[in-house]
Amino acid sequence: MANEEARSRSRRQSHSRRPSIRTLDDNNKAASEAPTTTPQKAASRNTRSTRASNAKAASSKRSSSHPSRGGGKKNQARNLPARSRSRLPARRDDRLPAKVQDVMVPAIPENAVRFIPLGGVEEVGKNMVLVETPEDIIVSDCGFQFISDEEQPGVDYILPNIKYLEDRKEKVRAVVITHGHLDHIGGVPFIMERIGNPPIYCTEVTALLIKKRQEEFPHMPKLTVNVVDRECTLKMGSTPVHFFPVTHSISDSCGVSIETKWGNVVISGDLKLDHEDGTPSAREEEVWSKIAKDNNILLYADSTNAEKDGFSIPEVVVHNTLETIIREVKGRLIIGTFASQFERMIHIIKVCEELNKKVVVEGRSMRNNLEIAKLAGRVKVRDDTFIQADHMSDYPAERIVVLATGAQGEEFGALMRIATKRHRSISFTERDTIVLSSSVIPGNELSVQKLKDNLYRHGVRIIHYRASDVHSTGHGNTGELVWIRKKVNPRFFMPGYGYHSMLRCHAQAQMDAGFPKENICIPDNGTVVDFIEGKEMKVLDVKAPNSLMMVDGRTVGDVQDVVIRDRRTLAQDGMFVVIATVNARTGELRKSPDIISRGFVYLRESKDLLGEARVIVKKAINDATKNANPIDFEYVKKSINDSVSRFLLQKTNKRPIVIPVVLGL
Ligand SMILES: [Zn+2]
Repeated sequence: MANEEARSRSRRQSHSRRPSIRTLDDNNKAASEAPTTTPQKAASRNTRSTRASNAKAASSKRSSSHPSRGGGKKNQARNLPARSRSRLPARRDDRLPAKVQDVMVPAIPENAVRFIPLGGVEEVGKNMVLVETPEDIIVSDCGFQFISDEEQPGVDYILPNIKYLEDRKEKVRAVVITHGHLDHIGGVPFIMERIGNPPIYCTEVTALLIKKRQEEFPHMPKLTVNVVDRECTLKMGSTPVHFFPVTHSISDSCGVSIETKWGNVVISGDLKLDHEDGTPSAREEEVWSKIAKDNNILLYADSTNAEKDGFSIPEVVVHNTLETIIREVKGRLIIGTFASQFERMIHIIKVCEELNKKVVVEGRSMRNNLEIAKLAGRVKVRDDTFIQADHMSDYPAERIVVLATGAQGEEFGALMRIATKRHRSISFTERDTIVLSSSVIPGNELSVQKLKDNLYRHGVRIIHYRASDVHSTGHGNTGELVWIRKKVNPRFFMPGYGYHSMLRCHAQAQMDAGFPKENICIPDNGTVVDFIEGKEMKVLDVKAPNSLMMVDGRTVGDVQDVVIRDRRTLAQDGMFVVIATVNARTGELRKSPDIISRGFVYLRESKDLLGEARVIVKKAINDATKNANPIDFEYVKKSINDSVSRFLLQKTNKRPIVIPVVLGL
């Protein structure tokens, strides 16, 4: 789900680097803790068991990152000065030669179907799996994962490792994409060229989202995007691929069933069931009964919500609750949700139009997705239903509904900007009602708490998902997952799309429902499974390359590249540390900020520069803490970084790594 175009844009703009002091250490640690990223070693040792445990160490490190589903805290626009990397050799030839060697995965046997999850089984994000026959490789999804600055400073996204595909480019017939969330399409601009730019097959809304995103990467070769029906069969190479519709939070979602000589491999995509009190709808029956008729070797299925039992709340319940609120609210209504909750956004707009209310759309990701919904004809509303924020006062308050991003407390999200009085034209009043139509993504608790506190200070009324059915997930609970598996009736089962704990819970639920344990494989990223003649499951001892691939700005590399790049910046432009002690409650500076610099300018001869820099820091802190209560220190740091980087560039034409340290006392 995850996933807001805005993030991609903001990330793209934010080439400026703001690592904290622990940057290098952390990255070095990551690299040293994950020997799978130094294949030389692995190859020379060639001890499988060691590799396996190493892979685990690497994975546990990875899984400490936040799930990106739904727009996590990483969903933060960073208004930092765009940084030219002209002085950095910023392409993939930047990579260290030592990494070229990887453990060899043996060629696929003539009588096998091979399945490899390249990403998405040790995290929520960077989904990518492949199905290989002796003739063809079909890839499903091409996602990325957001990561927070705290964990990997200076890195924007993590991609699935595609080395296996790069080495077999000529066999890759197609990339089929199940739906348009960024954890399924986000990797497209970075990955497609590297795997030979094979044709993409997907449904209409997905295609529009992919194309819209690709506009931000004009230097990349043109994609071949084929729009398909949600229910169709196409031959890719010599392999028939069947698309089927599934229920998820974004329009046009589907799953795929890949037909081979030995039977089908069914890939669910993200999904839940449309149901009433646990009875799936007639449409679900129809779709899944059709798949049931095939000889299915493997089901690879969504585990995101497998830690929850029973059936999830159907989206229609949420729609009805929201409809009631929209109908009955007195005064202005502000709905905070994810832009990726595409269907919900469409529904809210329809209801508003029926009730003759005006809609203000706040947040770039939300506006983008609305554009796409209109382009695809999914929302047919009069243009005058939408108004700009500064025209709100032309209408009575009860006719205004604001759809806003930032329900996870993202500091640059529309909601936080309004709450902290940083929004150009909207401010809250006591007559406003705010609906937080999203759950709190683990890891975002603190920022959501800050958001709520800041909102309540305006005396507004808040309705949130715990108190009312104003949010439901796009992913099925175990009740739904077991129902689906029983329908598909596969010989083998593999839980996918989720953290390891989610995969385990999913497998357990299927076992509890009678599925044989020995026919289940719980994979890691890069696990290679051969299905011999569709009857025997063989999990290979070797894994496909699975070290982390990072995207930083537009550079793709692994952990070491990031370290190297940091060092290069340090060598060329040095670093500039700002230490500010502020009153934790009021945000006031307790004393003039300290400045430490290395390899940048000689401080004793740059008194004027330092004096001016201090003034800039003071102003940045003032602006960033004004009206905020409690104070968002991350935001303060980013503001300092932004203004100081820009100032130093103007004055010295250098781009030192700026490290703001803000102490609240
Ligand atoms: Zn999704």
